[in-house]
Amino acid sequence: MRVLFVTSEAAPLVKTGGLADVSGALPSALRRLGDDVRVLIPGYPQVLKALGTFKIEAFVAAAEGFPDFRLLTSEFSEGVPLWVIDCPLLYQREGGIYQDSMGDDWSDNALRFGLLSKVAAMLGSPSSPVEWKPEVVHCNDWQAGLTPAYMHFVPDSAPCVMTVHNLAFQGVFPPQTVEELALPEGSFHPHGAEYYGNLSFLKAGLYYARHVTTVSPTYAEEIQSEELGFGLQGLLKNRSKSLTGILNGIDTEEWDPATDQALAQTYSLVKMTGKAANKLALQKLMGLTVDPAVPLLGLVSRFTHQKGVDLVLEVAPELIATKAQLVLLGSGDAVLQNQAKALAKEYPGQIAVMIGFDEKLSHLIEAGIDLFLMPSRFEPCGLNQMYSQRYGTPPIVHATGGLVDSVVDCTPDTLAKLSATGFVFSEMTAQGLLACIQRALVVYQDKKSWGKLLSAGMSKDFGWQASAMKYHEIYEAALSTKE
Ligand code: ADP
Repeated sequence: MRVLFVTSEAAPLVKTGGLADVSGALPSALRRLGDDVRVLIPGYPQVLKALGTFKIEAFVAAAEGFPDFRLLTSEFSEGVPLWVIDCPLLYQREGGIYQDSMGDDWSDNALRFGLLSKVAAMLGSPSSPVEWKPEVVHCNDWQAGLTPAYMHFVPDSAPCVMTVHNLAFQGVFPPQTVEELALPEGSFHPHGAEYYGNLSFLKAGLYYARHVTTVSPTYAEEIQSEELGFGLQGLLKNRSKSLTGILNGIDTEEWDPATDQALAQTYSLVKMTGKAANKLALQKLMGLTVDPAVPLLGLVSRFTHQKGVDLVLEVAPELIATKAQLVLLGSGDAVLQNQAKALAKEYPGQIAVMIGFDEKLSHLIEAGIDLFLMPSRFEPCGLNQMYSQRYGTPPIVHATGGLVDSVVDCTPDTLAKLSATGFVFSEMTAQGLLACIQRALVVYQDKKSWGKLLSAGMSKDFGWQASAMKYHEIYEAALSTKE
């Protein structure tokens, strides 16, 4: 199966969140199954710098409205072919990939990701400028959402599969964008790409793709409801027969406590002593009081309302009163950042905060803490709760989305069955979170139960194999389904 995998970020080249992890790992997992998957990505400075040798596949005078670009081909992790859109006017700039250094969205994001969508559509159409032709185009998130809309109006194009990694981000732009991006006129319609008078990249993808997937079975149900459908629940409900939830896997090589170079000491289920060394190293590094006995809780996250960071900050003083310690790594909302920094100042030695994005530290935190906090209000899949189980660090999670599908709540029954891997709470309030933390701390004191919990989490298979197989099946279904 020839698949073009269209994404706006891919680890280790460029990453702002979970989409990058998926784009870095799923294509290689599919290739291991025998599929010829190629990744298409914009040529940001980080990507071009990491390219090494590359071939110029094509110079393309893009369609009306878009600047010209070069299509470069190279390889990235595990030899996955990488196709890069080299268009300096749109992608060669300082700052983030979606936002400038002030944190404001780039004003030409519609054009930047319109080009990504357009190039994918060109490559999937019969008039593609390159020889290799995908049988399926796999579009990820709103940045690739216009691809199915462009392709729908070109006869004999490949079918599209559209994956939603987070429905909260939809890529909505003013109506004049339709003309700027030379979208087929017929697509700007409530039954199409129009969303209350504006152009919605994501809605276009959800409407025109042959099949829609999202990143966990529970989230696939939730997005059909008013509460978590972000205004698209009607469309998603209509499409429910071609909507599938597939739980993300994780990169089990990058996230392996037995080989992880970012750790102070590696460890595994059969030799757990190294975990304690990581706790001490983390306490030292973050300026926490060095004490192996005190429970150390942590969080690595974007600081946003979605992730429930506010609840963690709210319960922090009560947590500290129980002699626990807290370490937080993340960035985002300025108010949350300031509150976190203020708490660290108020409780030196007990609360440590690092504002920023730090891959290496995130690994050490997963290994060094005792309990991982993930009280997300909604969570399409979530990755850290899986990393932490693999690192012998039971997660405390809110019962939502992929967290429900990947964490088994610790109860006397699940402990006895050796299936418990973490702690799940339903009431999304500070009180609900605190009660769950207290429940976890009781189990933490019982070394026998704790050992069972760690063992179940660390032995779980979080690899991509099973999920990659499901994506392959979706590709086959998309190919065999007629419009
Ligand atoms: P989302 O994509 O919504 O941010 P996920 O849990 O799916 O959430 O993925 C987030 C990814 O980004 C994880 O790999 C997580 O470890 C990483 N991450 C988030 N914030 C930071 C940070 N401040 N430093 C390092 N890694 C981070």
